[in-house]
Formats: sequence, structure tokens, C-alpha cells
Amino acid sequence: TKLQLATVSPSTGDGETTDNGEAIINLDHGDPTMYEKYWQRMGDKTTVVISGWQFTSYFSDPKNLCWFLEPELAEEVVRLHRVVGNAITKDYHIVVGTGSSQLFQAALYALSSDASEPMSVVSAAPYYSSYPVITDCLKSGLYKWEGDAQAFDKSGPYIELVTSPNNPDGFVRQSVVNRSGGILVHDLAYYWPQYTPITTPADHDLMLFTVSKTTGHAGMRIGWALVKDEIIARKIVKYIELSTIGVSKDSQLRAAKVLRAVSDSCGVAHPFKEETFFGFSHHSMESRWMLLREAVNRSGIFSLPEFTPGFCNFWNRVFEPLPAFAWLKCGDGIEDCESFLRGHKIWTRSGRYFGVSPSYVRISMLDRDRTFNLFVKRLSRIRSQRRMRL
Ligand code: PMP
Repeated sequence: TKLQLATVSPSTGDGETTDNGEAIINLDHGDPTMYEKYWQRMGDKTTVVISGWQFTSYFSDPKNLCWFLEPELAEEVVRLHRVVGNAITKDYHIVVGTGSSQLFQAALYALSSDASEPMSVVSAAPYYSSYPVITDCLKSGLYKWEGDAQAFDKSGPYIELVTSPNNPDGFVRQSVVNRSGGILVHDLAYYWPQYTPITTPADHDLMLFTVSKTTGHAGMRIGWALVKDEIIARKIVKYIELSTIGVSKDSQLRAAKVLRAVSDSCGVAHPFKEETFFGFSHHSMESRWMLLREAVNRSGIFSLPEFTPGFCNFWNRVFEPLPAFAWLKCGDGIEDCESFLRGHKIWTRSGRYFGVSPSYVRISMLDRDRTFNLFVKRLSRIRSQRRMRL
């Protein structure tokens, strides 16, 4: 979809916001700028200085299956998963990618490269809006987007994308196509304790993660895949070799430093304290969801998903999921929620991009405080047009 720039001026302050209804509030993208505030507080802890002569080679670790993976990053990925308890890394191959978006494409290639006809790619609706466009953008002969996994009834091999927690609606998911011949790709971008209870260390065959949603460093463009099967891992590496001959070392070193700071912070203070990364991010999400639910109640024409609380092994307590997106439904006879909110200068992404009805929209919960505060204020003032006419 459209790449539009944020139109509320960047500010990381908590600043009280007065809203004259004029500023455009752009919450279409999942740009995780909320986390800037934490990293600013950390000062120079994650500053990286690289001299002109350093890291000039293509190679990082020639003996490793993933020869372009910086050992420092590999180490920090393993450590963070151990600290959080959200994924098993023992006996997995780690493959780094330019964001998990590149790894997603690499995974499609790796899983379909031996197929005699295009493999079906499916995901349960509402699915992440980038899957269909990425899958079909090159009209590959290897794979083809076949839409909603719940309606999928074609024969032959298929790839099912399981996003858990899900983008856009935040629910924990499992595969839905219940037959043989399927290969699962688990996109676990949001399986972190600021968003959802960590119930078990994930141990699926192919799992994707990204710093974009873990620490908020979307601009670093670093993701990683945990891959059980060596042949599949080699093919994923091959794709990245062919498309970009590896992944920026500068970014990998920066990512390693940021992940180290996250793990370190978990060790020095009680995890709930705001100086720990997950303490800060979890509290931010908790207060944002509270404010959003209040605004939605006040307005009376929208609804949000209701989640079942779950026990989180990381926090050692029960909590309700706090997704990175609000999946808002318009009532009151409004059929096109995106256009309706656009009329109030709130930009969101319509349900139709996610394979469902336009009465839903996806709204980013990860923008800066100023934008988020403006958004909830404006939303809470939107009243039923029918009631107003009476
Ligand atoms: N998967 C999901 C479910 C996502 O929401 C996103 C980011 N919106 C990505 C993958 C892509 O992340 P990256 O920035 O690592 O390419």
C-alpha cells in the first residue's frame, strides 16, 4: 500500500496535546517510533562507532552455514531468546536477513524451489497485508498467493504463514489448514513480552523474528530466521546471497549492541522496572491500551477485540495481550471505516488489505506519545452521526 510520511511533527516528549482537529494523524504503518524514548534515555549505551577501514569484507564467518552472519549478533540472538524464553535456539540454524521481509521471501524460495508447479501460499484472514503483495510481486513460477487459509481447498503442496500474535488483530494463532503436504512458516515478529504472554518457548521448524518489533529499530533492517532443517537453511542463505550478497555488517553490529543492552537491562533491575527494556515497553503498551479502550467506550461507535488473559513465564504473572496494532471495527452502519476515519484526519489501513471487510481498520499502537495521545483524544470525540442527527 501507500508509503506516506508521518504528518504529525516528530516529538518524543509526553507533551500534553491540544487538538484542533487539523493535524493529520497517520497510523497506517506499523512504524515503531514509540521506542525512541527508551533508547534516548539509555544515552550512549548502544552507540556504535565504526572506522572507515573496518568491516569492509563481504564475509563475516566463512565457516558458518550463514557465512554473512556476524558472530556477535548470533550470540546476542541466542542470549535474548534464552532470557525471554520465547524460542528454542539449540539445534537451530540462525540466518540473518535484511529485515524479516527479506527472510520471508527467502523462505518462500527455499520451500518451493523443488516444486514442479507453483506452490500455494496461504494465511488465515485477517492476514498481514504485505504477504499477498510480496508473494505475487514477481509473478514467480515457484509459488503463488492463494489467500485465506480457512477457505483453502486446493490439492497439492502448500505453504501456510502463521503469524502469532497476529498482525493485524493480535490473537495468538496456530495453523488452520489441517492436511498433509503443508509447510509452515511461523512469523513471530510480535512474540515478545511487551505484547503477549510468553507461554512457551517456540520450537517450530521455521521461525521469523525482527528487531523492528522487538526493540523498535525498524530502520536497521535486521531480522533473523531460526531454521531446524539444514537443507532449508542453506537455501535461505542462497537466496540472500543471490539477492543482496549478505546483510549489512554495520547494521548487524548495531543490532548486536542493542540486543545486548536489552538482555543486560533484564539482568540489572527487576524486570518490571522502567529501566529494563521490556519493563518500559510493556508499561507503555498497558497504558496505551487502557487509554484506547476508554476512548472507544466513550465514543460508542467502535469496538475492539477482547482477549483472554494468559500466564506469562517472563513476567511470572497473568496479563491480557497488548497488541502492536488496534484492530478497530466501526459500527453504526459505517461500511468503510478507513474513509470514515480519514474524514476525521486519522489515517489507518482498511480491513480489505487484510482479506476481510472494510468495516475494520488496523491502527498502529507504536507511534510516538504525541501522536498516540492526539489519536485517542480525537477518537473519543467522534460521536455517532445518527445520534447527532436526532
Ligand atoms: N512480519 C510481520 C507480521 C510484520 O508485522 C512485519 C512488520 N510490519 C514484518 C514481518 C516485517 O518486518 P521487517 O521490518 O523485519 O521487515
